[in-house]
Amino acid sequence: MAECVFCKIVAGEVPCEKVYEDDAVVAFLDIHPVNKGHVLVVPKEHTQNLFTASHPILEHLIGVAQKIASALSTYADGVNIGQNNNRAAGQVVEHLHFHVIPRFANDGLRHWPGKTYREGEAQNIARQIKKLLGIP
Ligand code: AMP
Ligand code: ZN
Repeated sequence: MAECVFCKIVAGEVPCEKVYEDDAVVAFLDIHPVNKGHVLVVPKEHTQNLFTASHPILEHLIGVAQKIASALSTYADGVNIGQNNNRAAGQVVEHLHFHVIPRFANDGLRHWPGKTYREGEAQNIARQIKKLLGIP
């Protein structure tokens, strides 16, 4: 896609600090890292997000994310893998990508706050989701 920054990175039109590349995937440092060493794993072929991606591409991407996460885990205390879909979920670049983020004890990052279900609410929501999945 002409105006997509990750397509431009794939095409070599925008520079990046590449850490991995194969026929279908490129991985490079996030320009604004959550922690230093934060890597983005990106398919070379443009697709918007998780909902538009084919299973073979997703399998391939998660395999590369695992490889990078394992490498980071040799010096980090932990690793987060994140993946945002649509604006409301924080997706800014509309080209599918996985974030692989090295974590360190006491690095100051905080996890999402947990909400609490009212009486009976969790059962209702689980029922709705199962219905959407076509599970009786
Ligand atoms: P998301 O919010 O999941 O869409 O994440 C997009 C990520 O892409 C952000 O963390 C940005 O810092 C990162 N980003 C945007 N432009 C570039 C770029 N030219 N090179 C590297 N990372 C980028
Ligand atoms: Zn793109």
